[in-house]
Amino acid sequence: MTMTPTLWDVVVIGGGAAGIAVAASILKRKPHLSVAIVEPSDRHFYQPAWTLVGGGCFNPANTCKATSKLIPNGAKWLRSRVTEMEPTHNRVTLEDGQSLNYQFLVVAPGLELNLGAIEGLESSLGKHGVTSNYLFELASYTWECVRNLQRGRALFTQPPMPIKCAGAPQKAMYLSCHHWEETGTLGNIDVQFHNAGAVLFGVADFVPPLMEYVKRYNANLNFNSTLIAVDGPAREATFRRTNGDGTSTDHTEPFDMLHVVPPQRAPQFVRDSELANEAGWVAVDEATLQHPRFANVFSLGDACGASNAKTAAAVRKQAPVVAENLCAVLENRAPTARYEGYGACPLTVEKGKVVLAEFGYQGKLQPSFPLDPTVPRRSMWWLKRHAMPKIYFELMLKGHEWLARPGKL
Ligand SMILES: Cc1cc2nc3c(=O)[nH]c(=O)nc-3n(C[C@H](O)[C@H](O)[C@H](O)COP(=O)(O)OP(=O)(O)OC[C@H]3O[C@@H](n4cnc5c(N)ncnc54)[C@H](O)[C@@H]3O)c2cc1C
Repeated sequence: MTMTPTLWDVVVIGGGAAGIAVAASILKRKPHLSVAIVEPSDRHFYQPAWTLVGGGCFNPANTCKATSKLIPNGAKWLRSRVTEMEPTHNRVTLEDGQSLNYQFLVVAPGLELNLGAIEGLESSLGKHGVTSNYLFELASYTWECVRNLQRGRALFTQPPMPIKCAGAPQKAMYLSCHHWEETGTLGNIDVQFHNAGAVLFGVADFVPPLMEYVKRYNANLNFNSTLIAVDGPAREATFRRTNGDGTSTDHTEPFDMLHVVPPQRAPQFVRDSELANEAGWVAVDEATLQHPRFANVFSLGDACGASNAKTAAAVRKQAPVVAENLCAVLENRAPTARYEGYGACPLTVEKGKVVLAEFGYQGKLQPSFPLDPTVPRRSMWWLKRHAMPKIYFELMLKGHEWLARPGKL
């Protein structure tokens, strides 16, 4: 029987992409540390493939693995949920009231989909042509909606930033349009993209190639237009458009298919904690990922308040940085590893081609390959569709830090 320590060397909150990767990277450096991963779910999801599931290009079953199979050797999985963090006492509370004491805390519980922020959304999802690739159960329903639509109106929405994988709302549109193009129905379908923001993509270099596809698919772009209500049975969606003078107007549109990306925020226990920044995410130093006030607390992944693009690709580079810096602080040294804000968004502009957008803080391009990153490529589709799931499960979650050596401070 393994003993449960009364004081853990490291408690990791969340056993998603970030929690598992960072635990593996820490244990690779210091195999004798006691590391607990608190994770309520027995299923772990490879979410980046849900876009492909929605486009009919990936088996949904292959995006899900048993959490028990992914816990790194040497770490202990505590199947529970953290409800409170008390960093001044080096303690977290679990949903059953138990508490865990730690020497170091890594906060990686991902983010929360705020479905309730859109009136009528929860009761409409999964029927009436209302879908979202952001939910495992619904990504295959997206593909069903796409296949069934022969004519009519298809609406795709993007909420205010930040969201995980900021390109995913438009990726859903491109893959749907490509299917309709291939089946000869695109001309019968009125495609509308409603974006709460004012630009198609946050890094300007990638906008021109994306605009080529917007034109090719004859999609209509609506900026500053936020989905606020859905009436599934009536097949109507209401949008709030912000005008140039700061006023707003609401209008309702009919639809035959509606792909919704829900607004997103930090989990409640993070928003309520002393560790949160003003926006509710875990406050961190952008370079070291260490909390600015609690030197024994680090954060990475979607819950982390650094200004990078929230992606699994970011996690691949963040995990070694957190592991290096946590080990340095453990040895009474200053953090040495630097995260430069890397994130990546493989924009699936058509079935078989991807524009691989890789960039860091302030949108600075950080391509991994010596190729023009703005060109749609078959090789990048292959990377996204075939190589990335393997890199994720076989390398990143196992502490093999492929192309992820941290820079020095
Ligand atoms: C449709 C879609 C497409 C995407 N496409 C891409 C892409 O192409 N490329 C890319 O790099 N990224 C992509 N992403 C983003 C990527 O999946 C996330 O950025 C990544 O999973 C973040 O890892 P994380 O560990 O922070 O969060 P998650 O992987 O979501 O894991 C968080 C974990 O924390 C657990 N948890 C939650 N609350 C608690 C609690 N209170 N206590 C303990 N545990 C808790 C959850 O159960 C979960 O297992 C996409 C995401 C979606 C939804």
